[in-house]
Amino acid sequence: MVAEIVSVGTELLLGQIVDTHAPVMARILAECGIGCTRRVTVGDNWDRLVRTLKEALDRADVLITIGGLGPTVDDLTRDAIAAALGDELETVPEVEARLREFFSSRGISWAESTARQAQKPTSAQLIDNPNGTAPGLFCQKNGKVVIALPGPKGEFDPMAYGPVKEHLSRLQGGGVIHSRVLRIVGMGESGVEEKVRHLMDAENPTVAPYAQTGEVHLRLTAKAANRDEASKMLDPVEAQIRDILGTMVYGIDGMTIEAAVIDMLRERGETVAVAESMTGGELGARLSSTSGSSSSFVGGAIVYTMAAKEAALGVDDHLLKEFGPVSEPVAIALARGAKERFGADYAIGITGNAGPTVDVDNKPVGLLYIAIATPYSIQCHEHRFRGIREDIRRRATQQALTQLRNLLLAVQ
Ligand code: ATP
Ligand code: MG
Repeated sequence: MVAEIVSVGTELLLGQIVDTHAPVMARILAECGIGCTRRVTVGDNWDRLVRTLKEALDRADVLITIGGLGPTVDDLTRDAIAAALGDELETVPEVEARLREFFSSRGISWAESTARQAQKPTSAQLIDNPNGTAPGLFCQKNGKVVIALPGPKGEFDPMAYGPVKEHLSRLQGGGVIHSRVLRIVGMGESGVEEKVRHLMDAENPTVAPYAQTGEVHLRLTAKAANRDEASKMLDPVEAQIRDILGTMVYGIDGMTIEAAVIDMLRERGETVAVAESMTGGELGARLSSTSGSSSSFVGGAIVYTMAAKEAALGVDDHLLKEFGPVSEPVAIALARGAKERFGADYAIGITGNAGPTVDVDNKPVGLLYIAIATPYSIQCHEHRFRGIREDIRRRATQQALTQLRNLLLAVQ
């Protein structure tokens, strides 16, 4: 059984609001064991909406629509579902009576447009909406199921997690799809794919890689009768992958590399400080974003200009002049300065050119140096990253965290 989700609303297409409901619906479908094969957004245009619904019904067993159930002229979903299913619209007297009472009790005059909310396609059952005026729809016709949910979050969430999830789970006979994400650093997507290629042909659980900035995620997904059973099916696959990739797997699901680093430092009772030029505070922000990071993250300095590097961290003027601010000696001096001034066990110094222009220094865009001072040594790596400014800065931050993690793994 497969489903498609159609989000309805011109404001979604214009980018004025973000479609947060469709991912919620996709997760609910997964939890009910129904594969979601397509998500579409369509504007409030009659022809395009009806065509989109018909096409989805040709492909999928279950069609879920979000939004456009209200009383205004641009709310077309109810009528469009009737048209796509070849249904008539009929008024449900109890709903109309309830709506009339609701309006009169608030002193609002009855508009004909409101009456539309009391209508339903002939093959539909109504889904109660205790938080709004427009009920949801559950239609079953010719072996297809159509479910319509309202757009406002306060109405959508309770309906989606409540009666809609129950309907879906009943349709599917109660199965679940459960995923676990293994998070990997130190190897690119194709490298990871090559190593786990033999696991990727399996159908249940499935294994699929996704490239992220400076890391790779492997999503393991199992279908089973319930979540516990699915989770048990994922365990041996996770164990196999950990055998192959070793410490490159730094965490699962919502874990981040900065949280992994902070955890390692906390266990060792050690601390880190930062000296950031090109990343402008991004590294400190990520290290401090983990709850409980204050036991391990001491602080740092954002030292953008040459003068700031000299004044705040004592980077020698002649180093800056001789090698330029984007250089290995300056990265090392930044790390050393931060370690001394902040009294940390480890300190990371980052300097580089994130572009888009070539700096005063004449160093190429994307060239950067990351130095890490440890209790025993200082090591520095040169990197060349491509991309726009934001990408280069984000990758530099990610690389610094990975580099620190590698050092901590090497010196147990
Ligand atoms: P109403 O009765 O308020 O008209 P409706 O069912 O017709 O409800 P829409 O008119 O499509 O729904 O949307 C109403 C509001 O709901 C939007 O302005 C937006 O705030 C929110 N909304 C709609 N669709 C989505 C979505 N896919 N994701 C997040 N929010 C949404
Ligand atoms: Mg509306």
